[in-house]
Amino acid sequence: MVISEIRIYPLKVPLKEPFVISLGTIYHARNLLIEIKGSNGMTGQGECSPYSFINGEMLEGQMALAPLLAKLWIGKNPLEIENRMLELDKLLSANLALKSAFDMALYDLNARYAQMPLYQFLGGANDRVLYSDRTVSVGEPEKMAREAAQYLDMGFQSIKLKLGGPVEIDVLRMAAIREAIGDHLPLRIDANQAWTVSEAVRTLRALEKYNIEHCEEPIEAGDLVGLKYVRENSPIPIMADESLFDHRDAIRLVQCGACDYFNIKLTKSGGIANAMKITAIAQSAGIASQVGCFSETRLGITALVQFVLANKNVIHFDLDSPLMLAEDPIIGGVMIEMDGRAQLTSDAPGLGAVVKEEYKDNDRVVLVI
Ligand SMILES: [Mg+2]
Repeated sequence: MVISEIRIYPLKVPLKEPFVISLGTIYHARNLLIEIKGSNGMTGQGECSPYSFINGEMLEGQMALAPLLAKLWIGKNPLEIENRMLELDKLLSANLALKSAFDMALYDLNARYAQMPLYQFLGGANDRVLYSDRTVSVGEPEKMAREAAQYLDMGFQSIKLKLGGPVEIDVLRMAAIREAIGDHLPLRIDANQAWTVSEAVRTLRALEKYNIEHCEEPIEAGDLVGLKYVRENSPIPIMADESLFDHRDAIRLVQCGACDYFNIKLTKSGGIANAMKITAIAQSAGIASQVGCFSETRLGITALVQFVLANKNVIHFDLDSPLMLAEDPIIGGVMIEMDGRAQLTSDAPGLGAVVKEEYKDNDRVVLVI
């Protein structure tokens, strides 16, 4: 089998309501879909969800760059995953979100070819039911508390709160939320880099009494010295998110002792191949991981769940992006219940999920043959 054609589609899906974090606001999922066709007629699909304020990538830029990467693969063997990904890295540095869509499509095609569900192709087992948290946008304390209470009623087993300063307001937000939902439900927080080092230490100490599992990315991404200081002075464990893209970042975080947890996202790591390297590092270093998402549809989330089923190191799940979408453009794959329960209900080969035909924008598709 060789790769005979690759189709590159923009994939736009409206959100139920705007998603607000300390770095910006999102109204639509504007994702990229890569579809690889083999000479035997089999196809593989991959998706990424670029967030320019996290990774510097945008759909428009990806639509321009993707054909250059696709051309490298035409006529080549899709079963040689390592060689194919090395070719992308040689032509184009960075752009890990874009590369992750190619990686996902390649893994989908490989697992389909092997007639295995992807988790099995990766050496895993479908022996876990995952419970996703639900994310509350940063905003007025009362509005956040109302939303958190609603998610508690819906049956979510943990809630993730977006914070973002000032310190006094973040403390008011947490106080309002605990008041509304009681003391028992585990809470996670994410500052998305909003605090300085001293603000982070001050805030995390002030939040100690609210029973918080971990805090994602308290300070500016990449400041590992600062992050280590925050970690050493925080009563709440620290999770690296924007400071952790690929496996190279993972080893640096371990070397610096800068975090307690990793937050792995396929759109950040460059795909499944690199994400497997991150969990190998995590496992070796005794660091547990969470998986997270941007605004992926159930296609990307299905790939993420299949990856989790092959990595017991991953113990926290932030898989709620499909619940934020107003429409579901995917057939098959992982089912996500309204209480966050995520389960792969079929052992169909590959991802076991495909994008519905009507969501493939045939006016804007780029075909590479
Ligand atoms: Mg985060």
